[in-house]
Amino acid sequence: MAKRYSLLFTVFMLLTASAIEAQTPGNIRIPDILGYETITFDPHLHTVFSDGLVWPTIRVEEAWSEGMDAISLTEHIEYRPFQRDVVADDYNRAYDLAKPAADRRDILLIRGNELTRSMPPGHFNALFHEDSNKLAVTEWRDAFRAARDQGAFMLWNHPGWNQQQPGPAQWHQEHTWLLENDMLHGIEVINGLLPVYYSPEAHQWCLDYGLAIIGSSDAHNPMAMDIDFTAGEHRAMTLVFAEERSVEAIKEAMMNQRTAAYFDNMIAGREEHLMALFQESFEIESVTRNRYSFSAVLRNHSDIPIRLSGKPDANESVEFFHRLTVPPQGSAEIYISDLNQESIEEITIDLIVDNFLSLPGQGMPVRLTFRPD
Ligand SMILES: [Zn+2]
Ligand SMILES: [Zn+2]
Repeated sequence: MAKRYSLLFTVFMLLTASAIEAQTPGNIRIPDILGYETITFDPHLHTVFSDGLVWPTIRVEEAWSEGMDAISLTEHIEYRPFQRDVVADDYNRAYDLAKPAADRRDILLIRGNELTRSMPPGHFNALFHEDSNKLAVTEWRDAFRAARDQGAFMLWNHPGWNQQQPGPAQWHQEHTWLLENDMLHGIEVINGLLPVYYSPEAHQWCLDYGLAIIGSSDAHNPMAMDIDFTAGEHRAMTLVFAEERSVEAIKEAMMNQRTAAYFDNMIAGREEHLMALFQESFEIESVTRNRYSFSAVLRNHSDIPIRLSGKPDANESVEFFHRLTVPPQGSAEIYISDLNQESIEEITIDLIVDNFLSLPGQGMPVRLTFRPD
């Protein structure tokens, strides 16, 4: 009997070991730009320590399997519906439970909380503070001050959330007060939980007031319940252009607006960052001349598809595709003809990268020149 037990135990151990070995970390391939590392960060997540449906360590495993660099478990301070089942008077508990798992998986865990107030000012994430318990105070202004006094990055979440703010997102005088008192540093331009997830109003405010453009999942369910990874989907996230892969460097980059929001194959950001991403991702190769036309291969070195269309009222006398997607890590062949010239040396065309939003709701213009190899 003892022998049989030990045999079974050995088989069990072997199976467990192979199951662990079979797991591989995910890998999100987006180029580094402008001398910075491109860091993937989800700054808005929930667990059972507020109204999420997973244990904190599961958020770490999800991030690891997707290839994320950094996450924050931003439990609501004021809304904890599972308190009867998950008894914790300590608002730091979710972070403390997840931290050893994050260290083991080399995921950067950033302390965060969602200050959950009615509009105005609405919901705000405090990030990078030291002690969540100091945020649990009655007056909303005191809670914000408690976060700022710990050096927190303050993120205005889902300003266009219908339940709080019917119609387009609105800026209130409370937001001006927060801005003037160093308690507003970024806005969620993309929220992965809401049906309308991109806010052009929030994008414009980020540009007008010098705020970081943020995307986040705001996941409450296990990630695989909301995201179809087999179909190539990914969670909403922030790309942070940081000096190195560390918590301090992510904070420095976010405080200096070196971010972009990424979801559903769309990226929203500042033109300087999106243009650099485009230049590092996109390549024109093998240009061949025929009599009146060129053929060329366009290559994409990133996991973000590149969706191109002709710029309206440009490109007179030149004929090419109407719309074209250069797939992630893939290529597309194109033909361009110049109707006026024979034996042309080069062709220049003006395009819009439709899924790179460098201005609110608008794709980014690019000019490409084709010369035969
Ligand atoms: Zn919220
Ligand atoms: Zn939330």
